[in-house]
Amino acid sequence: MARKMTDPIKQRDGSYAIVLDKAIVTPEELKRMAEAMEEFNISLVKFTESQRIVIVGIDPERVNEFCEKAGVKVAPATGKGVRSVKFCPGKVLCTMGLQDTIAMAERLIKFEGMELPDKLKIAVSGCPNSCTEPAVRDIGLMGKKDGFTLYVGGSAGREPRIGRVLAENLSMDEAEKLVEKILKFYKENAKKGQRLGKFIEEIGWDEFEVSILG
Ligand code: SF4
Repeated sequence: MARKMTDPIKQRDGSYAIVLDKAIVTPEELKRMAEAMEEFNISLVKFTESQRIVIVGIDPERVNEFCEKAGVKVAPATGKGVRSVKFCPGKVLCTMGLQDTIAMAERLIKFEGMELPDKLKIAVSGCPNSCTEPAVRDIGLMGKKDGFTLYVGGSAGREPRIGRVLAENLSMDEAEKLVEKILKFYKENAKKGQRLGKFIEEIGWDEFEVSILG
């Protein structure tokens, strides 16, 4: 059976890990999670680069049971598709913030787990300081005074690439619609194993821009 993006991830020592969907939690939620972790003998807790909680040492047969007890879901963490959206606190909490990144990210979380030709990372930052590095994500939204600037085609890792600005001064509605359009176009047209930046390079910026913006 094909591996799902939410399947437990085998660790070097033979144990399994899962990534939880929570990026922001209340103390009560954290307490509930911690109690479940103790009950399920979780050996270690760490955090992903998209600020999600990873628990190591989960029994793969008891993931659903754990999630119910802890009040969490498993976030998509591996494989070809939309990974967990990375976002900073934005103007809700950060004094530098110009846009509401939490509300923006909440609109994009529904795309997490969508299957695609290759992995796709999305980042949202509340200001040009870019703490979440939107310019080096497949899709990046950077908050500025008059709205979000949308970058596409960036990546870090083995082949670092700076994304290119597709649109500026976007409202949350406009940004969400553009992200949806990009994902659909990429899903339907890219080759298997081709990251968004490579796909854009192959078809050419002009064709990509016209296909998305019309
Ligand atoms: S990107 Fe801007 S708003 Fe977000 S945490 Fe960094 S400084 Fe604050």
